[in-house]
Formats: sequence, structure tokens, C-alpha cells
Amino acid sequence: MDETPKKAGVLAFFASKCPRCGKGKVFKNSILSFRSFSDTLEACPNCKLNYEPETGFFFGAMYWTYAILVGCIISLSVVIYLLGFFEYALYIIPALLILILPWVFRFGRLLMLYVVYPLMYKDKFYGK
Ligand SMILES: [Zn+2]
Repeated sequence: MDETPKKAGVLAFFASKCPRCGKGKVFKNSILSFRSFSDTLEACPNCKLNYEPETGFFFGAMYWTYAILVGCIISLSVVIYLLGFFEYALYIIPALLILILPWVFRFGRLLMLYVVYPLMYKDKFYGK
């Protein structure tokens, strides 16, 4: 029998659900809520997983967000170049990045919860 505790899957990640049970939500408000799209709940409403195991845990999300944004800039630059609009890249890329920023910000936090949390806080995450 497999003794490894289960984690929530990719669908739960993209639905912004809890990394342990995959049912409770992570963020307080809708992504369309302009001022508070980034507000994170303190714990999962379903399995009571504490989303912030230590103060400043989500500081590391900044690195994930940076990596995602650099990837977006590079791929957008290639697409714009291939479409022949490269002289407008200075206007198109920042406009698109501002539009996707709420998603990128949330993905950075979710990656902290899905990747870093189970590695660094194994006992808290799996409840041992
Ligand atoms: Zn949960």
C-alpha cells in the first residue's frame, strides 16, 4: 500500500483550491475584485490547513511571479515578432502584462502553497 499522503491535483491548482484537500478555496475574493484579488484566507475552510505556516511565507511568491512574468515577456516577444508587430512591442507587452497580472500574482502564491509548502513544512502540511 502506498504510504505517501495525497496532494490536490492540477485542476485544484487552476481552480485556486486548497493544496491538501483540493476543496476549500485559497483566496477571499474573486479575481475580478480589483482591490482585493490577492487577499488570502488564513486557513482552508474544509481541512483547516494553515495557509501561512510562518510570517512572510508568501514573500517567496515574488520569485515565482518574477519567473512567470519573464516567461510571458519572452514568449510574447517571440509571438509579436513572428506576427510582424515588433515595433509596437513596447506598448503591447506591458498592456498584456497588466491585464494578466492578477492571475500571475495568484499563481505565484499558489505555487508557494503547492510546491514549497509540502517540501518545507511536511509535518504541518500532511498533519503528522
Ligand atoms: Zn483544505
